[in-house]
Amino acid sequence: MSGNIVLNGVNYRRPARPVAVVCIDGGDPAYIEQGIRDGIIPNIARFIRDGFSAIAEGTVPSFTCPNNMSLITGAPPAVHGISGNYYLDLATGEAVVMTGPELLRSRTILAEFADAGAKVVSITAKDKLRKQLGKDLDLTRGNISFSSEYADRCTMQENGIENVLELVGMPLPDMYSMELSLFVLEAGIRLLERDRPDLLFLSLTDYIQHKHAPGDAVANEFYRRIDEKFGRLAALGAVVALSADHGMNDKSTPDGKPNVIYLQDILDRKYGKGDTRVICPITDAFVKHHGALGGFVRVWCLGRRATPQSIIDLLQDMPGIAAALDREEACRRFELPPDREGDVVVIGEANVVIGAAESEHDLSGLGDARLRSHGAVTEAKVPFILSRPLNEGYRRRAAAGPIKSHHIFDYAINGVEAEQ
Ligand SMILES: [Zn+2]
Repeated sequence: MSGNIVLNGVNYRRPARPVAVVCIDGGDPAYIEQGIRDGIIPNIARFIRDGFSAIAEGTVPSFTCPNNMSLITGAPPAVHGISGNYYLDLATGEAVVMTGPELLRSRTILAEFADAGAKVVSITAKDKLRKQLGKDLDLTRGNISFSSEYADRCTMQENGIENVLELVGMPLPDMYSMELSLFVLEAGIRLLERDRPDLLFLSLTDYIQHKHAPGDAVANEFYRRIDEKFGRLAALGAVVALSADHGMNDKSTPDGKPNVIYLQDILDRKYGKGDTRVICPITDAFVKHHGALGGFVRVWCLGRRATPQSIIDLLQDMPGIAAALDREEACRRFELPPDREGDVVVIGEANVVIGAAESEHDLSGLGDARLRSHGAVTEAKVPFILSRPLNEGYRRRAAAGPIKSHHIFDYAINGVEAEQ
C-alpha cells in the first residue's frame, strides 16, 4: 500500500488516523504509579485500562539524546550512533557534543513518512534536540519542526511554521519551568486541530522530575496538567502513545548532599594526572538540572599506566558501582556504537552519581534541592502506554516480551486495533 515505509528492518503502515507519540522526559514510571494512586491523571488511567500499558526497557545510557534518537529511529544506538550527549573524539582529544544531526547515522521514522507523503510534526522543549529530531525532514511541504525554547523565532525555512506563539496562545515559556513542556503539548493539540497531521512526535523536558519526587505537590501539578493535554489529543482522534527517554532517581545522601563518586580523582590518584580521561555523557548546558552528574560515565585510557582491565579490577567491587565494563562488553550488552565508546564504561547504583574531577562540577545551580538524576541501568525502565488496545499480533508479541521503548512508533502505528 502506498505511503508505507520500511526503516531499520521494521515495516510501518501509513497511519489511518493521527498518531501522537509523547516522550515524557524523565518520566519515571513511579510518577504515573503515584498519579494513579492519587487519582490525578484520569486520562492516563483510562489509557491503561482501555488501551495498553507496560514497563519498557529504554536505551542505556539512560540519557535524553540517545533515547530520543532510539524512539524516532526505532533502533538502538549501535544503529543510530547517538550514545550520549558527549563523547571523546580521540583524533582531536576534544569532548564532542552529540546533538549534531551529522552524528545521527540513521534516517528517522518522521523523515521517512514525510518523504512518503505523510504530514509530520516534531516539537521539542529544548532546542538542543530539534536538529536531530528534524533531520532530513522536508519542511517545504507542510511538515513542521520547532522547539518551545525558540518558539518566538520560527521561520518557514527553518521550522516550516511561523507565528507559533499566536497559534499556541501562550507566552514564550521560561527554560526552567513546567510551561516549557506544556507548550510542546498545547502546540501539538493546536496543530492536530488545524492540520490533522499523520504523525506527531512531542518531546518534553525533565526539569520538574529533576527537582520534584513523585507525589510532591509540583510534580503532581505537572502530571495533572500533562494528563489533561493527553486527554485532548485523544479526544481529537489521535492514537496517543506515551513513553519516556529515561526515569529518575534520588541520588543524595541522607543529609541531602549529592551522593557522588568523583571517578577522575580516584583514577588520577591511582595512575597519575592525564593518564585517563573521564567523560560524563549527561553533560549539557542545563547544569541546574543535574550539575553534569549522572549514573553512567566513560573512561578513556590515554597514557601508559591504566589499562581497561586494571580500571575494572579497581572499580568493580567499589561501593556504589554497579558495573565496570570494557568497551566490547558494554557495546554488546547495551547495543552501543564501539567507535564512540570509552575503553571502560562505569555505571552507578540507583542512589549514586559518578562524576569526573570534583573541581569540574559546578553544583551551585542545584541550590538546596536534593540531587535527582539518571543515566544508569536503574533509570532505563520507562512507561509504555497506548490509548488504544493492541491487536492480536501485538498482544502476543507484548506478552512474549521484553518490550523496548524504541518500538513505541511500531506499536502505536502497527499494533493498535482498527477502529470499530
Ligand atoms: Zn531526559
